[in-house]
Amino acid sequence: MHSPQFTAEPSSNGTVERDFTAGDVPGLRSPASGADRAPLTFDVIIAGCGPTGAMLAAELRLHDVRVLVVEKETEPKSFVRIVGLHVRSLELMAMRGLLDRVLQHGRQRPAGGFFAAIPKPAPEGLDSAHAYLLGIPQPVIERLLEEHAIELGAQVLRDRAVAGFEQDDEGVTVELSGGERLRSRYLVGCDGARSTVRKLLGVGFPGEPSRTDTLMGEMKVGVPREEVAAKVAEIGKTHRPFWLRPFGEEVYSVVVPAAGVSDRAEPPTLEDFKQRLRTIAGTDFGVHSPRWLSRFGDATRLAERYRVGRVLLAGDAAHIHPPIGGQGLNLGVQDAFNLGWKLAAQIRGWAPETLLDTYQAERHPVAEDVLDNTRAQVQLLSAEPGPQAVRRLLTELMDFDEVNRHLIEKITAIGIRYDFGEGPDLLGRRLRDIDVRQGHLYGLLHRGRGLLLDRTERLTAGGWSDRVDHLADPTAVLDVPCVLLRPDGHVAWIGDDQQDLDDHLSRWFGKPSG
Ligand SMILES: Cc1cc2nc3c(=O)[nH]c(=O)nc-3n(C[C@H](O)[C@H](O)[C@H](O)COP(=O)(O)OP(=O)(O)OC[C@H]3O[C@@H](n4cnc5c(N)ncnc54)[C@H](O)[C@@H]3O)c2cc1C
Repeated sequence: MHSPQFTAEPSSNGTVERDFTAGDVPGLRSPASGADRAPLTFDVIIAGCGPTGAMLAAELRLHDVRVLVVEKETEPKSFVRIVGLHVRSLELMAMRGLLDRVLQHGRQRPAGGFFAAIPKPAPEGLDSAHAYLLGIPQPVIERLLEEHAIELGAQVLRDRAVAGFEQDDEGVTVELSGGERLRSRYLVGCDGARSTVRKLLGVGFPGEPSRTDTLMGEMKVGVPREEVAAKVAEIGKTHRPFWLRPFGEEVYSVVVPAAGVSDRAEPPTLEDFKQRLRTIAGTDFGVHSPRWLSRFGDATRLAERYRVGRVLLAGDAAHIHPPIGGQGLNLGVQDAFNLGWKLAAQIRGWAPETLLDTYQAERHPVAEDVLDNTRAQVQLLSAEPGPQAVRRLLTELMDFDEVNRHLIEKITAIGIRYDFGEGPDLLGRRLRDIDVRQGHLYGLLHRGRGLLLDRTERLTAGGWSDRVDHLADPTAVLDVPCVLLRPDGHVAWIGDDQQDLDDHLSRWFGKPSG
């Protein structure tokens, strides 16, 4: 992959004095006009092409928003965090026609056993057509989401970082690491835990700093497999996290507590791994030939705000927590799914006045809850006698179906209910993938539009038909007469009265057209 070469001279104060045009960037064409010399302006610039940034780009493209994703790395990440896509994320994939693609690359596993690794199976009849976990390496899910965004028309500029920005009433001027200045109407920081965008915005990131670091990598071992397995079983009882798991023919995935907290920008060395293995297991297993080595911490932090004017934050840029229960990527992708259609509506000009602010109102409490459940899980994984006693008690309590169900609905994010005001329990929740006359409900949501699912066959989405589809289907497996779904699949209205429906269409989809 080649990196873009820019030719403009920086001025004496280091800034570039002219607007860059598409012709300055090999391989990049201005989506505004298709002409090489058109000013390089976008509706949205996204900092970071991790899973959150790629998902957001794709969601925006469903609504023809001109998107540029700026990614500081030349190539996609190569280190393998085996990530679980939980039920709600799998539902999102189904809603956008991506499920078959991700299923081909992952392994389905039972959905239970993720809360603090307490080995309880998922309760019977989990409320989803996709009630399993998909084990899939993070680089693979990132690649699939990036491909999806590009297929839909997003532009990705690699080997450039967002280094600065200024916002005004009409837009944001974004400065890249090469000194180039681009113009967009909005900027979204999906640039990970150390987010430059968040720091430059001056948004607070309160919480707890990292107390323990963990080393993680892939390498070969110099001792027989049985010897490794016996030692790991013994040590795993007292040291969490600790494992050496075979990964392919000769390679092992190695996780071992680090000696202390350090600057995670510095990758660990093989010698660091050897020393820690010797300290904890009494042997370094003869590890050698590393494929990659990394380090992660257990800091827990939440951005004070998700939006300042025309600049927003999503994913790890907005929240971080220890990777227990496998929720971080899922949370970020779901942020993007919540934000995409709202930001698109703002840009297309039909968004009701407060729509964009519902992004923070809905997603900030969800992240707060995830941070809290990971704090609880950290305690439950401690080897200390007190937390161990609490863990035994919770293990007993999880034999009660309601307790087990509550915890799994939390981890899988299918229990989320946004506050849309008073109404039936289904209001504000996502609707599962039910059977409808045309097949599956989620198959009708691929275009990211609203949907009026009408069992009465006498309602209409009339003036909103450019934004909301209407499905009249008395056979739909639903125990209410009619629901209005937002593009993210959450239930925005339940009822059978046309005037009430029109009020809610206005609330979520703005003024009727025509
Ligand atoms: C060991 C481990 C295991 C995990 N397991 C799971 C799991 O099972 N399930 C789960 O859901 N989550 C898991 N996570 C968490 C998950 O990896 C993160 O939550 C996820 O990567 C967040 O995605 P993101 O797109 O928000 O940020 P990132 O993945 O960090 O992506 C940010 C991107 O922005 C780029 N960038 C940074 N700064 C700039 C800049 N200034 N300009 C342009 N680009 C920039 C970066 O290069 C990067 O590509 C795990 C994490 C760890 C450490």
